Amino acid sequence: MARSLVEAKQRVQHCSICGNLTDADPCEICGDEDRDCSTICVLGDSSDVVAMEKTREYHGRYHVLGGVLSPMDGIGPEELRIGELLERLRDGKVREVIVATDPTVEGEATALYLARLLNPLGIKVTRIARGLPEGGDLDYADDATLVRALEGRRVMETDS
Ligand SMILES: [Zn+2]
Repeated sequence: MARSLVEAKQRVQHCSICGNLTDADPCEICGDEDRDCSTICVLGDSSDVVAMEKTREYHGRYHVLGGVLSPMDGIGPEELRIGELLERLRDGKVREVIVATDPTVEGEATALYLARLLNPLGIKVTRIARGLPEGGDLDYADDATLVRALEGRRVMETDS
């Protein structure tokens, strides 16, 4: 019983680099040398990676947070893979972080948190445009909407 659980866990796991669900570690995207390593698209869940990949318009890397900031539910920065993101930014190769969390209150708060955290490091933080319906979900956006949201992304300026 215990062993079969372990085996099931080994088949589908979180990529140790980006946090995406994968059956190989690192995942196919992290292991792809042809993908642009100067751009990281930050997403809430693995399902958002699938949605973004379907557009075929994004060729950078991903980082899955495993959720969004939600103080009401007790989800703070420590519960998300933000430390892992900082680790990935350390070598200075990443120039832009595109925050593509869902356009919900929590998604926006997460984007702002990341902008405040990363701007002082000299990394450009952009937010996908509001092409998505308010409170919408990346998963349910059609490809064209998501492409427009990505193309229309804007730089997040922070005072601090
Ligand atoms: Zn990966």
